[in-house]
Amino acid sequence: MHDCVVVGAGPAGLTAAIYLGRFRRDVLVVDAGSSRAARIPLSRNHPGFPDGVRGRDLLARMRLQAEKYGARFRDGRVERLAREGEDFRLDLAGEEIRARTVLIATGLIDIEPAIPGVQEAVAKGLIRICPICDGYETIGQRVGVIGADAHSAREAMFITTYTPKVALIHVGAPQDLPAEAREELGFAGVELIETPIESVVLDRERIAAVCFGPGRREVFDSLYAALGVLPRNQLAVAAGAQLDESGRLVVGEHQETSIPGLYAAGDVVRGLNQISTAEGEGAIAATRIHNSLREAERHRRG
Ligand SMILES: Cc1cc2nc3c(=O)[nH]c(=O)nc-3n(C[C@H](O)[C@H](O)[C@H](O)COP(=O)(O)OP(=O)(O)OC[C@H]3O[C@@H](n4cnc5c(N)ncnc54)[C@H](O)[C@@H]3O)c2cc1C
Repeated sequence: MHDCVVVGAGPAGLTAAIYLGRFRRDVLVVDAGSSRAARIPLSRNHPGFPDGVRGRDLLARMRLQAEKYGARFRDGRVERLAREGEDFRLDLAGEEIRARTVLIATGLIDIEPAIPGVQEAVAKGLIRICPICDGYETIGQRVGVIGADAHSAREAMFITTYTPKVALIHVGAPQDLPAEAREELGFAGVELIETPIESVVLDRERIAAVCFGPGRREVFDSLYAALGVLPRNQLAVAAGAQLDESGRLVVGEHQETSIPGLYAAGDVVRGLNQISTAEGEGAIAATRIHNSLREAERHRRG
């Protein structure tokens, strides 16, 4: 019986593991190895790294720190989570694991445009995902935002913080972009391109050319994909946890879900989808988990 099983070893789960280890708790981290942070070529907005940090390096350092304080790690995917009595049962490759509390830190999946080589292009920073993270790097550039709806229109307008040369390349149905959003784009000076994309040419360095059928080829310095996200909420949903309208887990002030003993932190919860917020939520969840276990232990002792 573990004090806590943390599902997911991204920034949220690893921060929680460091804290729980230092609270002298028995913590097991199970990870399927697809942290969004591992895709970051160089993060320049994480506090404490003035020259930036590679996502993989940050994860490796955090894991080392968690191991130093006793957290244990297992590779693999938790396939099932259920509350049984006061505790939880998790299934991992046919094995049953038991825990008094569980932290869901499973993150989300970015919906990517159907462009050949998109994964590699994201890894090289040719296609970007997150303007809050790296919009600064587009100062003065010509930026294309591939998007489908009002949310992507807001993202395109956000990028005008850095450059006036922004185009929304609209790949959705015309009705997905309401008249109000079109008007706002016009006010913000964002060009709206509605011709279907025929192909995308990704240069080895920066320039990406988007071809819109015969005779029209536009060159951008950076392309953003703004097609939305899919929270990895399945385990918590199967255990009965409540979701908000965007599919994120609903949590309270201390990251507790609607199921007692089940906590959630990071991108799977509403918020900014940032490393530092994931870390903050991991720290809050871990502290609450420790204090709730202390309370339960005190009751048991009478
Ligand atoms: C290209 C790119 C650039 C980015 N740049 C920045 C940046 O510069 N600054 C910034 O702050 N943020 C950046 N982000 C966002 C940042 O990476 C995320 O906000 C952060 O990784 C979220 O952490 P997390 O712990 O919630 O989830 P993740 O890091 O995604 O980790 C979730 C983990 O859970 C595991 N998992 C899921 N389901 C299961 C299961 N059933 N069993 C076991 N394990 C499971 C996954 O395999 C994964 O390893 C960027 C993201 C991308 C994609």
